[in-house]
Amino acid sequence: MYPLIATVYVQALIYALGLLALVRSLYNAVTHYKWTRSAQIALVDQINQLLPQTQCGQCTHKGCLPYARAIAQGEAINKCPPGGVETIRELASLLNETPLPLDPTHGQSKPISLAVIREDECIGCTKCIQACPVDAILGGAKFMHTVIARECTGCDLCVEPCPVDCIDMINPGALESDSWKLTNTHRLEQPWLDSGS
Ligand code: SF4
Ligand code: SF4
Ligand code: SF4
Repeated sequence: MYPLIATVYVQALIYALGLLALVRSLYNAVTHYKWTRSAQIALVDQINQLLPQTQCGQCTHKGCLPYARAIAQGEAINKCPPGGVETIRELASLLNETPLPLDPTHGQSKPISLAVIREDECIGCTKCIQACPVDAILGGAKFMHTVIARECTGCDLCVEPCPVDCIDMINPGALESDSWKLTNTHRLEQPWLDSGS
């Protein structure tokens, strides 16, 4: 009788210890997942802050944040023409990678520009509004449209859809107003911005 009870106790103890080990493994796995996830989110945020926020899609992603996510998962860091070599250099430094030349299949770096609508020629078709990734255009169907200069990232995406070709991309240094400011550090380092009005 007593040996039987002892055996049952021992088996129960073994099951309890096994269960405890399982719970502990699950806890460790969840903790590790949460830590990895928050580290990944922090890295994506750091990468995104280095991108120009032009939202032009030349990297083949739908904006800078999706490209930042892709870079965090190992995608090449040289696909952003608006950022150019400076962004590549900073990304390489952050990720401890070797800087690469800009991949020309994604376009060439060019000076920052600003969209301006020749308003008297606008037919109010709204195609530019639909194309703008940052809501920098004001207007309504059959009404004149205009660009909010301080919001425009110079991505060019509104130009091609305009059926009457009334959107110009201009050098913002030529503007009389100094209200056009981009928050991106790289852009503020552009020489013509330093000297421009
Ligand atoms: S190419 Fe550069 S600026 Fe354009 S969406 Fe991609 S990361 Fe942003
Ligand atoms: S107004 Fe044109 S150039 Fe400016 S952000 Fe919008 S789509 Fe890009
Ligand atoms: S796409 Fe051209 S014509 Fe159409 S609303 Fe925009 S600026 Fe006007």
